[in-house]
Amino acid sequence: MTSRESQGSVVRAEIDAAALRANAAVLAAGIAPARLKCVVKANAYGHGVDIVATALHAAGHREFCVATLDEALHLRDLLGPDADIMAWLYGPESDLDAPLHADIALGVSTLGALDRILEATERTGTTARIHLKIDSGLGRNGLTPDDVAAVLAKLRDCAAADRPRLVVAGVMSHFAVADEPDRPETAQQQQVFDAVRDDLVAVLDAAGGRLGEVDDLDIHIANSPAALTLRPVPGTAARVGLALYGLSPLEDRSARDLGLTPVMRLVSEVVNVKDIPAGHGASYGLTYTAETDTRFALVPGGYGDGLPRSASNRAAVTIRGQRFPVIGRIAMDQFIVDVGDAEVAVGDEVVIFGPDGPSADEWGAWADTINYEIVTRISARVDRLGVDVTRADVDVDGSGVDIVAGGREGAA
Ligand SMILES: *Cc1c(COP(=O)(O)O)cnc(C)c1O
Repeated sequence: MTSRESQGSVVRAEIDAAALRANAAVLAAGIAPARLKCVVKANAYGHGVDIVATALHAAGHREFCVATLDEALHLRDLLGPDADIMAWLYGPESDLDAPLHADIALGVSTLGALDRILEATERTGTTARIHLKIDSGLGRNGLTPDDVAAVLAKLRDCAAADRPRLVVAGVMSHFAVADEPDRPETAQQQQVFDAVRDDLVAVLDAAGGRLGEVDDLDIHIANSPAALTLRPVPGTAARVGLALYGLSPLEDRSARDLGLTPVMRLVSEVVNVKDIPAGHGASYGLTYTAETDTRFALVPGGYGDGLPRSASNRAAVTIRGQRFPVIGRIAMDQFIVDVGDAEVAVGDEVVIFGPDGPSADEWGAWADTINYEIVTRISARVDRLGVDVTRADVDVDGSGVDIVAGGREGAA
């Protein structure tokens, strides 16, 4: 850190805590009696984990999931001891001592991981809380049926030891096609998962509580699409990421259809407006040529900020409530908007996406990707500003700089 005060970036992401709370409440009510596990990996899908996790924690949510151990340790520092934090992605060289000291629950996807966890508990004198992660068909991380047999055998050995040093806190899996409700694979995955759950429960029963109580076993397989489409939601909890941020994982249902509000509003500002004669080109490669006399507005924001270059000549943004096309190639730092003779001036706010502009879904379509990637790829150069439209205050990256949020009352 330098002593120089940050100017704040021109491109900034407003993160609406009120929308986040409302989405979490809608989701929790929809999946009840199953509980909500808030997935805040990858910097809370690009929204800024400090703002997001703090807001969810303040609203009473206690269960958080991340992918990596560093993400989990950061959350522990941020939220304190009463948060239930789990992580599931680490490698053979990962240091497990720190997560065990920090009471991070660990997903177990290989027999080797279980061995390393047991070694680390001996070394640290801790008791590990683990969730068996089952590959029920996705083919990604997780125990295969053969692995499960070996792990259950290992658990029986642990139960017979003087001090088990292990609590089986949960069993989990992950769906591959839950966003396509008509496909049969989801029910097939559920069957594979249920069979493993039953075998595990038998092992825990036989252990008589030495590896944790069966009644406390957390059973979770649903992600956002499953949490929105399966009724009842299978298991005791659902791990929800995307929907928490007010985005829809379903092709045929929008966030609004689902009662969700986008949490991120990505904005920039017009910094230059110029008259352009017919025939003039725009940006690298001159892939766009003005057909008539017009005006170009220059907007900071490019692939250095996480905007997809593949949306060049396809995307649109909203200025003064009106949509304008993004023309020519999106560059590293800036893009051009053809504003014609509309009333657009230097200093105007540009909504790149958000509740009162294009959606992250549209950017996903323009860039041949999905809304998940659009928000997650917003880069570190972009300041995240926590806003709370019900409280009308803004906190810049938790740095304590308060600004009044304005002009959002009309936003849907
Ligand atoms: C990312 C992830 C989730 C959350 O998925 P969403 O579709 O964003 O809800 C849940 N479980 C696992 C294992 C994940 O990797």
